[in-house]
Amino acid sequence: MKIPKPSWSYGMQSRARSRVGAAPAIAEAVEEAAKQGITEAIVFGKDHTGFCFYPTEKGVPHPKLQVDLTGTMTAELHKRNMKAIAYVNMMDGEAGRRRSDWLLVSASGGTCNVPEHFADLCLYSGYLEEYLMPVLKEIAEKYRVDGFFIDTMSAFRACYCPKCRELYRQYSGKEIPADPEDPEIPAYGLYKKALTEKTVIEMRSELFKINPDLKIIFKHEGGPLMPWAIPGLDQVPVSGDPRACYPWPSFMANYLSSFKITGDVFIERFLRGWGDRSGCSRETMAYKTACISAYGQRFCVGDRLHPECRMAPGSIAAMKYIVSTVDEINRRLPDCDMDLAPDFLALFPSSSVFGKNWELFGRSGRFDFDGPGSVFFGLPILLADAGFPFMIAPEMTFAEHLKKDRLLIVSGASWFDDKTNATIRNFVFNGGKVLFAETIPQLTGGQVPDYLKVSAGETPWQQAVYLPPWRKTETDEEKILCCGDVLDLRLNGATPLLYGYPQYDFTLMGGGYNSCAAEQSDVPLLTVNHFGKGKVWFLNAPVFTDYCDRALEHLAWAKTLLRKIHRPDCELVSPAGGLEVVARKSPDSRCRSFMLLHHGSLRHSLRNKPFRMTEQVILPLPEIPVVLKVRTGKNQRVTIDGKKAPGVFRKGVMEVRLKMDKTWKIVNMEEK
Ligand SMILES: [Zn+2]
Repeated sequence: MKIPKPSWSYGMQSRARSRVGAAPAIAEAVEEAAKQGITEAIVFGKDHTGFCFYPTEKGVPHPKLQVDLTGTMTAELHKRNMKAIAYVNMMDGEAGRRRSDWLLVSASGGTCNVPEHFADLCLYSGYLEEYLMPVLKEIAEKYRVDGFFIDTMSAFRACYCPKCRELYRQYSGKEIPADPEDPEIPAYGLYKKALTEKTVIEMRSELFKINPDLKIIFKHEGGPLMPWAIPGLDQVPVSGDPRACYPWPSFMANYLSSFKITGDVFIERFLRGWGDRSGCSRETMAYKTACISAYGQRFCVGDRLHPECRMAPGSIAAMKYIVSTVDEINRRLPDCDMDLAPDFLALFPSSSVFGKNWELFGRSGRFDFDGPGSVFFGLPILLADAGFPFMIAPEMTFAEHLKKDRLLIVSGASWFDDKTNATIRNFVFNGGKVLFAETIPQLTGGQVPDYLKVSAGETPWQQAVYLPPWRKTETDEEKILCCGDVLDLRLNGATPLLYGYPQYDFTLMGGGYNSCAAEQSDVPLLTVNHFGKGKVWFLNAPVFTDYCDRALEHLAWAKTLLRKIHRPDCELVSPAGGLEVVARKSPDSRCRSFMLLHHGSLRHSLRNKPFRMTEQVILPLPEIPVVLKVRTGKNQRVTIDGKKAPGVFRKGVMEVRLKMDKTWKIVNMEEK
């Protein structure tokens, strides 16, 4: 198996005064990539300021453009058998300045038109047919590019312009809801989703008339920021730029690994320098490369050309170092065919971004560190810290990865559709194991899944619960507090397994949590229901979400729970996590590989804002002693980073001791 070489984005966001192409060296820039074995690059067609980087009849050319950047770079790429993907931004400052009737209008009636920069535009105002589509078609026809990287930005957001209001009135006879409490919100969400699907289908079919082989990527759509099945997702990679900091690079790569087509993790470190790798140490680039490669995904490096249309020396050095890291990883991975072998499958529910039944489509705050979706990070970070290999899969891909020897975890899902429900129901019925946690998902008709055999009262029972200790000898110790809503859970046939402890007198102490009550409550903390040949558990506490705080005793408790429910094949035992193990094995299990990632010693910016959130890897990394335990059944020959290493085989389990003192290491095992 091979990790793909990175793709390179020769970025070029502009302002009018910049002399674009004053001293071009486009062939040289492409030649550098070709020398490194890169096979695909993003060339700039139109940016969000609204300027085209080629002589255009349909769009607005950059006023100081001295070169045909789009055309020359595409031709240079094609000359070297490389693919050219044209960047076109759906937003357009110039169009907004020329046609105020094309501007996207917010619920409060405001518009966004930043002087000399970008504007938010409405696709249904005439802008799409009269301007954006002609520009896309012109690029496709003139340069025979291989695809488009369409940067959607705000294009699919709810718009309140006269045209959009009229369209919704025609559809429903009602006004577009503005108040989040408006009962019309759910209906509008479904309408907006259907409208966006229709728009994407039409755009694709128009462009396919010119070239049916075009790869048309809509940035972020289908990814963890926008987890929905945008039309065409089975034909193109999902691509998007996550935050350039932990846990995003590995989290996004993990999520993308659930798709059949290899995805692109497009990391940009905005607003620090004109090359997006500016200020990144070599070790930082190696770390990000390793996080993405571990899951077999492609690093799409968000770099920028100098306005003169040449590569900076720093860009060349970064390209060489990133490619050499991918090459080194490939040398360390075994040659045999292997698949990812996660022991746990974490469902990433669409409701975490779009709410129930897509009601927030077009208006939800994107999944963010600070946004409501950030709660989902607790589960993957807990699984990583626990040392278990896991996969995060959205509703559109998870069915492919269900296995009887893999525990499905559904945490914090407020809703899922009938298809997802039927998939989970069949999986359990046929012998699968599922752990639900935190919330009982509603189905579209308002009912709850019948295989859980629990229900909940309207309001939460408590704002926190103390977790019962696993061992009797611990009973006198301080119990572990799990913060967050606990449901007023009722049994409708499920068997209770555990009960938690409420706060003293069921109430808070001032603004904080109260001491633990002496007696256990009668509201179940954990239930199980046998359904068909399988089992389904319900954990009535936000144990996973609350792990965003990364409390160690909390981790130990959850790890014990998971081990009791499901015995994983692989475990990376470490003092406190901060590591991640990605497991692979060949179909006949004779060949296994484990990529270990070190997330320690990261320096974060204090600007907790999406585009300014940066991190650096600091050397030396803290040396963490670990034991990799793998149930192999047979004794194994072990190598660590290509060198023979000792392992102990005991009771069917192979144990390898090592020190994690690098950003990544690869442990391979082969049957003796
Ligand atoms: Zn509109």
